[in-house]
Amino acid sequence: MQEWKFRRSEFRRPPAQLEHVDATIRFFEDRVEAEGVLHLVARETIGEMPLDCDGAKVPYALDREYAPGERFTVKVSHVSHPDGVRLEGIYRDVTPGGAPQQYMSQCQQFGFQRILPIVDDCTAKCTFRTTLEGDERYTHLISNGDLVEKRSAGPGRMAWTYENRKPMAPYLFIACAGTWDVLPDSVTYPDIGKTVKLEYLVPPGHVDGARVPMEILKKSIIFQHELTGFVYPYETYRTICMEKSLYGGMENTGNTTIVTQAALIDSSISDARLVYAHGVIPHEYEHSHCGSGVTMETPFDMWLNEAYTVNVERAFLAREFGAAFTRAMDVAGLRMDGGALAEDESGSAPAIVREGVNDPDDVVDAITYDKAPEVLNTLRSLIGAEAYDKAWREYFRRFDGGNANTEDFLKVFSETTGRDIGALMRPWLFSSGHPTVRASWTWAAGELTVTLAREGDYVVPVPYALVKDGRDVASGAFVLDGAMQQFRTKCPKPDFISWNRGCGFYGVLEVEAPEEELVCQVRTDPDAFNRAEAMKMLRDRGAVKAWLELYKEIFADESLDLGAKEAMLSVGVHSLDRRRRAFVRENAAEMHALRKAAAEAIGEAALVASLGGENANGIDAASIVRRAWDKVVLDMLAELNTPGAWAAIEGYLGRAENITARLNALSALVRGESPRRKEVLEAEGEKLRKTTNGYSSYLRIVACDPHEDVFAAIEAEERREGWSMSHPALSRALYCGFTANADRLWTDEGLAWIERTIVKYAQCGEYNALRLLSPFLTWRWFEPGLRAEVKALLERLAAALPREKYPSLGGRIADLLA
Ligand SMILES: [Zn+2]
Repeated sequence: MQEWKFRRSEFRRPPAQLEHVDATIRFFEDRVEAEGVLHLVARETIGEMPLDCDGAKVPYALDREYAPGERFTVKVSHVSHPDGVRLEGIYRDVTPGGAPQQYMSQCQQFGFQRILPIVDDCTAKCTFRTTLEGDERYTHLISNGDLVEKRSAGPGRMAWTYENRKPMAPYLFIACAGTWDVLPDSVTYPDIGKTVKLEYLVPPGHVDGARVPMEILKKSIIFQHELTGFVYPYETYRTICMEKSLYGGMENTGNTTIVTQAALIDSSISDARLVYAHGVIPHEYEHSHCGSGVTMETPFDMWLNEAYTVNVERAFLAREFGAAFTRAMDVAGLRMDGGALAEDESGSAPAIVREGVNDPDDVVDAITYDKAPEVLNTLRSLIGAEAYDKAWREYFRRFDGGNANTEDFLKVFSETTGRDIGALMRPWLFSSGHPTVRASWTWAAGELTVTLAREGDYVVPVPYALVKDGRDVASGAFVLDGAMQQFRTKCPKPDFISWNRGCGFYGVLEVEAPEEELVCQVRTDPDAFNRAEAMKMLRDRGAVKAWLELYKEIFADESLDLGAKEAMLSVGVHSLDRRRRAFVRENAAEMHALRKAAAEAIGEAALVASLGGENANGIDAASIVRRAWDKVVLDMLAELNTPGAWAAIEGYLGRAENITARLNALSALVRGESPRRKEVLEAEGEKLRKTTNGYSSYLRIVACDPHEDVFAAIEAEERREGWSMSHPALSRALYCGFTANADRLWTDEGLAWIERTIVKYAQCGEYNALRLLSPFLTWRWFEPGLRAEVKALLERLAAALPREKYPSLGGRIADLLA
């Protein structure tokens, strides 16, 4: 049985409801002093009030006993000495030159209690009057609500007071002091005429970098209004740049914080960051609605805040970049090492609705952010889009200004649809794992017989299309609610069935189809996503000859758009088959062999001719697709590993201005045997290290070098001035970057390196170090030799990182071994 520090079943509403907080927070160079008066109303008869303070429950004696309904106050104070390592509560961020110490805050999950004792509970929704005091050289002192007063607070000091009149949970509180430049703007809802003031707070001198994000924000606000009907309830929406954060951003009611590297956009932004910016901006904004407006009741219900929000974010991304492009990206995220499917397959993943957690940060994971939105999509497929949207609107109407939990959600959905949604969704929400569905079909005498089988007791919607001569002749979804079912229909014989386009249900689909059907699907499926899937299925079954034939054919096909070609022809370490993923060493070798065979079949000249270059410099969607295609070609040139190929890669690097184009070329050059590889990396590194984005990308290239000296190179980076293990973006780039090094990770040195690094990194926060476990989630599926090695490695880690001292990381390792 699992041991938890926090259990869902132990959750109860606190003995008194917090209604209002009067707080004063004083920022000094070395400390933060806070004092406050909490206004509460008793829920039961109480003589002392338990408050959360720095991770402990501390009883505060009251002057007398209070009966239910009676109001009382508690005075609290706290002095903290924030550092730049523990990034919760108020913490030290990077300070602009010549400015007073920059302070940021992060209150989710339980950060408020590190500032002041409080009822640190999602249900403690209360109003705030907050006075911030600090050095008058700060440009801003920021908290939630409307700024009602600015005054002097003695020599060299100032005080700003905010009123937040709409009840808000403490996890959404913000208190920061810093130095920023401001880009002001506004947006007006076209249908109702209301105007919202917008501000972007950026590091001094970087206002231009906020212009594109401001446009994304304005589009997001109108898009979200059209999609959900929500109207922003405050006067101002502020976006604040921060350097250090465990997360990409945080919605602090009216004051979204976003890491600078994602918040600012200029020509130096990488494509991944550009796409991320288009996601994180609408995401954090949506939390004004789902999060601030309707708040989860406990961290165990956090999936309710996130799943809906992620789907709004994805809808926006799909509009900006095209549905096919964004869906391919989502699905790649689900399938990757450490992704939601691998978590589920580890056998120790939590359910979406967890029974317990060791650290509240544990819920900030792939299950909450990737699996939960997929499960909502599965629910939409089961009940229909109209019923689904209607139920959500009712949910927001009913719980606006309050809290909701998973049962509330299920109840609203059951009432509005007239179906038992609790029963329908139980295995999806309350158990870990996912369904694996096997699909096959036969046709005889004018009748099609489809056979579907699945494990687990999920009700699974399985979308299909019958394809004949390159056209859909019928489509729909089978609803599978037994272990095995057959569906029969009279129809002409299709060429093939295009199953589960865009990965429609959450889980794994195994298609039983002869090779020639898959070949036909690669050539003629109207759905580009499934053409790429069929290509991967051919790889999985070892049909190399057919795969190579198709590869050449698609490469030469000028009628195909580059996005579809990229999806079909990029060759990763892993293919589709989940069991085959466990052959980590063999898969890396297979990837190299396939890329090389394809490159040789196409020929150096044809590869070079298909590279973009000058036309790959924009920051629009088409340029992003162009660069993704160029990367496929650069990877093949790297595999050719000839002087001609190296010259072509360097030529591309010389022509390209865009950072992603340059990085793709640099990475391709570093992976080959070009005698100039070190020299070019050094020269490019010099330029890249000037920005956090560039620096992170450079570190990932260093960490993914397939050569033996990669470990020495990583050590050299650790010693470089400016690198710090406590800078999440830089340390993640170097350390987590290595987990993508399929060539070196599974060697003896690679495994020893990762073992040492997990122990070292854990001293700097468990949340980051947890990511280094991602390659090992499915270790039980590995071949026996590697399995024994990894088991021993995990056992040594378990001894070095005991659960008592490292509840998240040590707990996860113990679970993986259990
Ligand atoms: Zn979120």
